[in-house]
Amino acid sequence: MKWKEALNEMNPYKPGRSIEEVKDLYSLKEVVKLASNENPYGCASSVMEFLTSSSMPFQIYPDGHATNLRSELSEKHGVDEGSILFGNGSDEIISIISRALLDNQTHTIMPAPTFPQYAHNAKIEGADFTEIPLSDGGHDLDAFLSAINERTSVIWICNPNNPTGNLIPSDELKRFLSKVPENILVVLDEAYFEYVTDPNNIDSIRLVDDYPNILVLRTFSKAYGLASFRLGYAVGSPTVVTELNKVRNPFNNNSLALAMASVALKDDEFIEECRRKNEIQRGRYKDFASENKIHIFDSQTNFVLMEVPCDADEATEFLLQKGYIVRSGNALGTPNYVRITIGTEEQNTGVFHALDLLLKEKGR
Ligand SMILES: *Cc1c(COP(=O)(O)O)cnc(C)c1O
Repeated sequence: MKWKEALNEMNPYKPGRSIEEVKDLYSLKEVVKLASNENPYGCASSVMEFLTSSSMPFQIYPDGHATNLRSELSEKHGVDEGSILFGNGSDEIISIISRALLDNQTHTIMPAPTFPQYAHNAKIEGADFTEIPLSDGGHDLDAFLSAINERTSVIWICNPNNPTGNLIPSDELKRFLSKVPENILVVLDEAYFEYVTDPNNIDSIRLVDDYPNILVLRTFSKAYGLASFRLGYAVGSPTVVTELNKVRNPFNNNSLALAMASVALKDDEFIEECRRKNEIQRGRYKDFASENKIHIFDSQTNFVLMEVPCDADEATEFLLQKGYIVRSGNALGTPNYVRITIGTEEQNTGVFHALDLLLKEKGR
């Protein structure tokens, strides 16, 4: 068959180990998954109540316009309804953007290491891409500007960045945006926006009026605790959103996900509580790292990227045997580090115990 040439060098997505798999493998009763930055507190109880009590006509196609959720989000963010694009997770929005703006005549820029889907989609579309190495775990925005050429059509900013968790200070971001040519789309992927506690951070949706070439990505998968429902959205200028909408599949969000997101959106208290608990637990990881003189990046998210006293795969395997699934930095482009999703107080205490054992074993 006449496959796209780019596919030759690519591999299908390889999912990490599941809780059940690890239980069987090591005969463990209890296994905690801290590998994909899911919400350890689940989702709002109001969402669970809705799920058990609602009856929906499942034979009917979903509302391809997401009318209710669109109107609720437009009110929440104070933007036009036409400024919002929905995706089957922000993953799908990343592929919609790539399909609409990238081909073998274009160029795109992203940090490295970062969320792998930007480069993955660029490869599929045959676009040329430049990866800008992180500086101290953050975006080197001057290097981004230097990498722009006349074929550049999309710039990917992951803020806070996955896997480091670093946040771009708002004034630095604005200075950067003012220097990017208006005909380049700047994607601000803010999957962890709800976890940011830096008081100087401004809501970048407020910047869309001044910089109509930005597109802000948000998701219900992380703080809202609805990862399995696959729902993300983008906010940008109506002109940008209209073009991207041409590429979107007509029924890309299912009815149940749309309805659940509407309920979740009304529960600000749940999000605030998760943000507060997460901040306290994030502090414990930072304390653990400094007490043990190991490096940790300055995270504003619900995960931390932390140094380990051995090869990252070995550390990941060690934690797995103790019942904790984390991500090895070897797979993320950060060897000697592991990325750990910040769990509940009890889960994190367990992680610290396991890490203490590892540090002792390695004579640290
Ligand atoms: C988790 C994550 C996403 C994916 O979110 P979905 O809405 O579940 O597709 C997007 N971007 C970043 C940086 C993430 O970490």
